[in-house]
Amino acid sequence: MSYHLIEVTDASANIHCPHCQQAVVNFANEEYIQPCKHTLFIALNIGFEYVADRFEKLLPKSVDELHEDLEQDIFKIVSAVNINDMTIVKSDLGVMDMFRYTGFSK
Ligand SMILES: [Zn+2]
Repeated sequence: MSYHLIEVTDASANIHCPHCQQAVVNFANEEYIQPCKHTLFIALNIGFEYVADRFEKLLPKSVDELHEDLEQDIFKIVSAVNINDMTIVKSDLGVMDMFRYTGFSK
């Protein structure tokens, strides 16, 4: 597996793309999900908030199927996807064991 993991402990911090610096999770906006072209996915433990077409094609199952099976560990699924130079930002939501995972690649 080839990915870099960046851990963020501040749940209220915006999440910026490491390639173009866009705030792809921007809590100042009502529409706080603002994916850039480098964004592969934005997911919580319990499901995806956003998936790029090019990333969805690489998933072992469709997003709908993954959502039906809530036993699935989203992080295990996304981190196993074989894509070059993936960066995953793991942000602590400050609620028990809840994280947001945001994936990027060029
Ligand atoms: Zn970007």
